[in-house]
Amino acid sequence: MPKKQKVKKNEYPDYVNQVFETVVEPTDYINKKGVSYSQFSIYSDCPHRWYLQYIEKHKSPPSIHFTFGTSMHETLQEYIQIMYDKSVAEANRWNYSEFFQRRFLELYREEKDKTESHYSSPSELMEFMEDGLAIIDYFVKNRGYYFTNGSQVLLGIEMPINITPTTNPNVFFNGRLDLVIYDHSLNRVKIIDIKTSTRGWNRYQKTDKVKLRQLPLYKKYFSEQYGVPLENIEVEYFIVKRKINENAEFASQRKRIQIFSPPSGKITINQITAELNSFIQTCFNGNEYRTDVEYYKNIDKCKWCPFNDKPELCDKGASK
Ligand code: SF4
Repeated sequence: MPKKQKVKKNEYPDYVNQVFETVVEPTDYINKKGVSYSQFSIYSDCPHRWYLQYIEKHKSPPSIHFTFGTSMHETLQEYIQIMYDKSVAEANRWNYSEFFQRRFLELYREEKDKTESHYSSPSELMEFMEDGLAIIDYFVKNRGYYFTNGSQVLLGIEMPINITPTTNPNVFFNGRLDLVIYDHSLNRVKIIDIKTSTRGWNRYQKTDKVKLRQLPLYKKYFSEQYGVPLENIEVEYFIVKRKINENAEFASQRKRIQIFSPPSGKITINQITAELNSFIQTCFNGNEYRTDVEYYKNIDKCKWCPFNDKPELCDKGASK
């Protein structure tokens, strides 16, 4: 099989050169308020939870799922960076298993020291570690199916977005894009968001509005920040599964990686942008949070809420 030729710099379309030339201004946290996608999604799930976390400043307890997700992100991103910057062989020589285990335990210890409490058990830590190693092993063996450094160019890892999305100049939307890749053969830029999941996304998760809105929003603001036309951008959730059923009927259920591209056309983007604008208009006055608003309690979302068992903070009663 002939070796795939790497795309040359003088073959890049103008919009790719524009990405490399873009400098994202540092965030002015002193005079402005930032809104992340996570903040917007918390508000969308339950405005009262948002009020407790952002206005009252009650912290969420640490979570083993978050620790696992961070160390998995770092490992996959580092492997992909080496692969595109150097070679697949170099990435395969890198000790990715040791890196993942070390980062997982380092992050766990950091959080444990901050909160002065263990938030997992030795057996659970071991289980998550083994699941992580199985994901990485699968990813490395099947890497060529998802990424190739032939016609693709890595534009960035953790690429920043820092945009003022509404007429309120004191509130900005900020985010970091996990992976952004240009594919010369498709004339497309692909924004990839890595998600860790226990068993992958089922049909309920694939239709969960709050889960799906992140990438269409990133698509819009990446286009505005870096000057890439919307029609040249694709988006994709890259979902890695901790558990799989080896005997599942369908091959896709036996894979550790699931790809899902959410709707991200102009109508979808406009709807989500309107919802973000409404959130900012409701909850911010200049660069201050509004405290004169009734922040509704959505009891349908209590199951995964960190304040579910804290009646002193949320009585789950009528709207406050
Ligand atoms: S416990 Fe339920 S109602 Fe209360 S903040 Fe959490 S999600 Fe909202």
